[in-house]
Amino acid sequence: MGLESLIKRAAKDVAKAKKVVALTGAGISVESGIAPFRGKGGLWEKFNPEEYAHINAFRRHPEKVWSVLLKDMFEVIKNAQPNPAHLALARLEKLGKLHCVITQNVDGLHQKAGNTDVIEFHGTLAWLVCLDCGKRFKTEEYKVKEMPPRCECGGVLKPDAVFFGEPIPVEALRRSQHEARTCDVMLVIGTSAVVYPAASIPSIAKNAGATIIEINPEATPLTGVVSDYIIEGNAGEVLPKIVDEVEKLLRAQE
Ligand code: NAD
Repeated sequence: MGLESLIKRAAKDVAKAKKVVALTGAGISVESGIAPFRGKGGLWEKFNPEEYAHINAFRRHPEKVWSVLLKDMFEVIKNAQPNPAHLALARLEKLGKLHCVITQNVDGLHQKAGNTDVIEFHGTLAWLVCLDCGKRFKTEEYKVKEMPPRCECGGVLKPDAVFFGEPIPVEALRRSQHEARTCDVMLVIGTSAVVYPAASIPSIAKNAGATIIEINPEATPLTGVVSDYIIEGNAGEVLPKIVDEVEKLLRAQE
């Protein structure tokens, strides 16, 4: 099937579904200028994950993780804007055809685009949390005076995002599994589907009978196994077209 036919097929599946859920990964924010972890131009080409993104590494050398990886990420994310893919998902919600977004991203761009129900599976960079007393600070209001940034109690501050070796926030995990079990279409966008337990969410939906549609320029371990079909393209090009088609189909039903 060609790209245009797949886009029409996805729009039909979405338009007739009772409950559509989107699962997004770093790939949806690539067109906003935020590098993904894996794949071409990914951060892991420059950084060793064990050295920078594991909680043990952070506890051992917080100043190193802050000054090499996090400072850059915060700077990029602070200035990033939603791209046509984020805006298309917000439009789908307004059309009444997107129940919620489960995102692995920590950049807040779905909310910035206008989605009102976003489950942050891996937490967020919008908050900092003290490793000693648990006090939380809004990142945009916190003035960094030293490296690593510290709480009034002297404890080191960590972004409220999930590092490797840390558990998934309980409520985000519970709700994501519930939404997966109860949706009839899942859009799986821009994730390499190798980070668990996030990568198991599409299988939960599939086992409960949902249609799984992947949008990714590259195949993933889900492709041909868990997903019903993949639309091979950039999310910023494919998603607006799907939503345009959904809009047409809904108008025709009125
Ligand atoms: P990943 O980096 O492992 O994989 C990115 C995927 O996106 C790849 O499959 C790639 O083919 C695809 N992709 C690249 N460009 C795309 C585009 N324009 N449109 C659609 N897809 C595209 O990402 P992941 O699976 O989300 O897992 C990595 C973890 O990294 C996540 O848990 C997330 O917390 C974290 N992360 C988040 C951000 C962010 O918040 N924006 C950025 C980097 C990493």
